[in-house]
This record gives sequence, C-alpha cells and structure tokens, in this order.
Amino acid sequence: MAEKMPAIVKTKPAYGAELVEVDVPKPGPGEVLIRVLATSICGTDLHIYEWNEWAQSRIKPPQIMGHEVAGEVVEVGPGVDTLEVGDYISAETHIVCGKCYACQRGQYHVCQNTKIFGVDMDGVFATYAIVPAQNAWKNPKGMKPEYATLQEPLGNAVDTVLSGPIAGRSTLITGAGPLGLLGITVAKASGAYPVIVSEPSEFRRELAKKVGADYVVNPIEEDPVKFVMDVTDGKGVDVFLEFSGAPKALEQGLKAVTPAGRVSLLGLFPREVTFDINNLVIFKALEVHGITGRHIWNTWITVSRLIQSGKLNLDPIITHKYRGFDDFEEAFELMRAGKTGKVVFFPKE
Ligand code: NAD
Ligand code: ZN
Repeated sequence: MAEKMPAIVKTKPAYGAELVEVDVPKPGPGEVLIRVLATSICGTDLHIYEWNEWAQSRIKPPQIMGHEVAGEVVEVGPGVDTLEVGDYISAETHIVCGKCYACQRGQYHVCQNTKIFGVDMDGVFATYAIVPAQNAWKNPKGMKPEYATLQEPLGNAVDTVLSGPIAGRSTLITGAGPLGLLGITVAKASGAYPVIVSEPSEFRRELAKKVGADYVVNPIEEDPVKFVMDVTDGKGVDVFLEFSGAPKALEQGLKAVTPAGRVSLLGLFPREVTFDINNLVIFKALEVHGITGRHIWNTWITVSRLIQSGKLNLDPIITHKYRGFDDFEEAFELMRAGKTGKVVFFPKE
C-alpha cells in the first residue's frame, strides 16, 4: 500500500482548503483504515471551507475534511473484533459516549458528549481514512458506492420524513437543497401524495421535479400558503417538513399545515425565530418534531433497505461526480453557489 496519499486538508484558519500529500494513517485501537470508494460533500464541509463563525470555534487546522463515505476496510486496528479486512462500510458521523443519560436511554442521537467524525478529528476526503469501528456500518456488497456514501444525509431525511405517518399524506417540503431533495425521494418512496415543494432557486425546483415532486412553487414569486391551499382544496397539508432553515419558510409551512397536522423540523435557523406560536402551533394542536442526526442504528437499517428496495430516485440528486480530488475547489464553489445537488468524489487508486 502507498505511504502517501492526496487529501483535502483545512490547512489554515482562513477561507478555503488545500489538496496536499499526507501520510497514509495507521489505525489505532478501536479503529479501522478504509480505502475510500466514494465520498460526498455535506453543508458542514462547506461551512468549514468557508470558515464561518461556527467553524472558527470548532475546527483546529490542519485537518482532513469530509465525513460522508463508502469504503473498504484494508487494515484493522488493535481490539477491533466487529470488522475485518474486505468489509464494505459507511460511517455514522456522531461518535457517542455510551455513558450519558441519553445514551443510557438508548437515545444515542442526542448523546450529550457527541463528537463529530470529520469535524473533531480527521475525515475522509482522501484516498484512505481512519474510521472508529464503533461508527462503522456494514453495507451489502452490491450497493453502489455513490449511494452508500449518501446514507448519512439520507438518515437525516429519513428521520424527518418518517417521524410520523407519511403514506397517503399530503406533504409540503420547504427547501430543495441536498437534504430537501433526499427528503422528496424518501417521501415519494414512502407513499406521500401530493408532495409540494417550495424552493426559490429555479435550478433546485427543476431538480425537485426530476426527483419526483408533484408540485413546485417559487416562494418569492407566489404565496406558497395560497398555493398549498389551492392544491389541497383549502384543507392544508397533513405533513410539513422543513429543510431550508429559512424563518419565512417555517412560518409559511406552519400556516399551510392542516390543524392537528405533523411538522418535522430539520433545517437549522441562522438566528432566533419569531412567529405567532399561539395561533400557528398551539391552537392548531400541531405535532412538532425537532430532528437531529440519525437514530443509531435504527435509521441506518431503514436507509439501507430503502436504497436496496430500488425505490429511491437518487441519480438526479447526484448532480456532480469527480474522479479524484483535483477539481475540489470547483466542486466547493459550485455548491456554495447553490448550483448542485449532492457532489460525489471517487478517489483515484
Ligand atoms: P442548503 O442550504 O443547501 O438548502 C437549503 C435550501 O432552502 C436552498 O436550496 C434554498 O434555496 C432554500 N430556501 C431558502 N429560503 C427558502 C424559503 N423561504 N422557502 C423555501 N426554501 C428556501 O442546505 P442543505 O444542505 O440541504 O440542508 C438543509 C438544512 O438542514 C440546513 O439548514 C442545514 O443546516 C440543516 N441540517 C440539519 C441537520 C440536523 O441534524 N438537524 C443535519 C444536517 C443539515
Ligand atoms: Zn452519550
């Protein structure tokens, strides 16, 4: 095996990243080394690249970026008895403590001591990467690496869409970024109808349609609440799924959802949000779910089977594929400009 490898590294506390040659790491106790078969860019990677306030407070350069991955185990560290060389894995990003009150209750997705793979340690934008064995998820051999790497964000979408009944339910999705697009295909595969998507970007509205949205609306040009009422004969949608993090979208969704309907919130808002909670939540008797991370491992089981069922329409969501990391800056800039769905890298041998 090579001793050096290319990696996208956050080298400095400033905008951007660099493609540099680094040593291929050795797996320590409880770790495995994988050969990366596919890896995808997440919004968090973009924040690290842009070096926003959150990244400045959390990331300690130099660090290899990335956390969404599919790879083959090539070396097993001391004490690992759950994985062997040749296993085909992806990785849960949340490294949980297993000891806190949330973990004791089996609620690992809200572990109070969560460390994040690729954020609090080196990540996977490289030819080889270290994965903590406790975070490895085994994939069936036949799963395409470009789908297997999407399982982590798909888990967010699955937890959002499937936190309540969805089959036969009219559904509004606000935001058709990479996560909203994954939400659309999960909702369609699970029998939601009609699926209405509110998204200001024309490029992403077109993608939403390709993925399977029944209706799309531009919330800048048209009132999405009126649009939803027209489509649902004045009833409002049964389910409102928020994937944008836009305060306006939250308010519009709460207005567009039918009384006693379900609301699941994944989008993260840039600031505190103000709205009429009495009339929009309490008197409507809404069921409101906050969604964070993925249920470990229940959500992964669902995600894996949904992919294996062949019912997810993932191909239109993967808008950009790169062989190797040479053009990584182009990829990040396209994503920053909102001109992508998911971007996948296939490292060169
Ligand atoms: P993104 O920024 O790429 O997508 C957001 C989309 O919302 C964009 O396409 C944007 O055009 C659209 N939008 C903006 N204003 C809108 C409005 N008024 N109405 C409708 N749509 C509007 O982000 P993403 O990567 O797809 O992630 C979606 C959200 O999920 C982000 O807020 C992200 O921080 C959050 N997130 C949360 C978790 C969690 O665990 N809770 C995990 C991952 C991501
Ligand atoms: Zn814990």
